[in-house]
Amino acid sequence: MSALIDEATRIAREFDYPADQVQRGVAEYIKQSNDGLAQEGTTLSQIPTFVTAVPNGSEKGLYLAVDLGGTNFRVCSVQLHGDTTFSLTQSKIMIPRELMASGTSKDLFLFLARQIEAFLRIHHNEHFEAHQRRRRDGNNEEDLFDLGFTFSFPVRQCGINRGTLIRWTKGFNIPDAVGHDVCALLQSAINELHLPVRVAALVNDTVGTLMARSYTSPGETGTFLGAIFGTGTNGAYVEKIDRITKLQKMEDAHYDTSTGEMIINAEWGSFDNHLSVLPSTVYDHDLDADSNNPGVQMFEKRVSGMFLGEILRLALLAMHNNPDLGLFKPSKTSKVVTPENSTLYRQWGLDTSLLSQVEADNTAEMEDVKAALKDHLKIENPSNDECQAVKILVHAIGKRAARLSAVPLAAILIHTRKLETDDIVDVGVDGSLVEFYPNFEGYMLEALHEVPQVGAAGAKKVRVGISKDGSGVGAALIALVASKDETLQNPSEK
Ligand code: ADP
Ligand code: MG
Repeated sequence: MSALIDEATRIAREFDYPADQVQRGVAEYIKQSNDGLAQEGTTLSQIPTFVTAVPNGSEKGLYLAVDLGGTNFRVCSVQLHGDTTFSLTQSKIMIPRELMASGTSKDLFLFLARQIEAFLRIHHNEHFEAHQRRRRDGNNEEDLFDLGFTFSFPVRQCGINRGTLIRWTKGFNIPDAVGHDVCALLQSAINELHLPVRVAALVNDTVGTLMARSYTSPGETGTFLGAIFGTGTNGAYVEKIDRITKLQKMEDAHYDTSTGEMIINAEWGSFDNHLSVLPSTVYDHDLDADSNNPGVQMFEKRVSGMFLGEILRLALLAMHNNPDLGLFKPSKTSKVVTPENSTLYRQWGLDTSLLSQVEADNTAEMEDVKAALKDHLKIENPSNDECQAVKILVHAIGKRAARLSAVPLAAILIHTRKLETDDIVDVGVDGSLVEFYPNFEGYMLEALHEVPQVGAAGAKKVRVGISKDGSGVGAALIALVASKDETLQNPSEK
């Protein structure tokens, strides 16, 4: 064997995450998740979402959804056909920079309401005109669209359509909105324009993923858990209200208790921030130390798309700088000249899609690996040993991420005793990593099955399906559930 392959194999072993470590992770996750249900300020936030029912696919009606996330504002309407299918119409508008940072919250929310108005005029003009006519005639009979508002900034939620903004992120900075209810801000702007729209729900994208899967999944079984493996990673699951003991301490909380359940947004990206059980290599350590938020999102930093490319880059760079090896530079083992502007030298430069491309190539010639190295790193004519070394590292990093993903999944299944009562446990997943990294789901389920309290029989009950568009159809479904929530019609009731 060549020195390159020896060294790649040695590094790859550092990414091994064997069954006994998975089991330790699961035990710790269960502990941290119980802490999170009991009190505020824990590593796992376990945020109550106030969504107390999941759809079964028979829901019908026309709902609106809007998504304010980063650069764009998306407006869509979703027609639920009641047979697990839906049609979606949408428009996307770039948010003007000046509204993101220098205006008032009123400017921003009026802008959003105007986009909703434009959307209604184009796509639902009849309904819109009828509403305007009734209003002019002084007819108070209301026929409002219920709207789900996906708002991807930190909020403190105290009801299904109430949440105060904690702080802006992602380049937004409109100080007068902080501390205010973002649903009320949007509703006032909508009312100012006399639109036939009621802001029915504040939505987190992970919860949207769960709801969208629950509606579209085969049969009547409701979905139990939704998980995202994209830029970041997070999950939401159905919990018994009795177990969310911190809800009792929230004086302003409003929710429907009729199902006895509520969806919890785990915020599992921050599982084990103090690294009591998570595996760590020198590459994980360096990635975190050089990040702009060291010590937080430690689970996410080992699992999600934003980070896997950087872990790989650091491992490749170590082999590149190792004087005995000289991967990708003229040396004993290589003839390659890596150009100075290669992303090999740029922090966060290496996109995680490279891992999927490399992992997918199982040919002896490794033409796709070579193409990926050229496209992503400007590296040309690597030797077969060099390509093989990259493959070994990629496989190790991707597989560890997938096996780590089994930790929250197993822990939540065990802690809720879901496998003891149900024959099928439906799980919806979304995100480019789980969608495109070859066999990500397979490695995850393999690790799940190795957990003794789950076992082969338990793992067999878990049915995983891709669930796209949580902020569209998922948000619409949350608006639907909210519109059927009696306590909202009479908010004094708890
Ligand atoms: P978002 O998380 O913003 O909703 P995605 O689910 O598409 O969006 O995830 C984007 C992340 O996935 C990025 O970090 C990107 O590097 C990574 N990514 C994009 N394409 C792939 C791919 N083919 N394989 C693995 N990861 C990918
Ligand atoms: Mg996404």
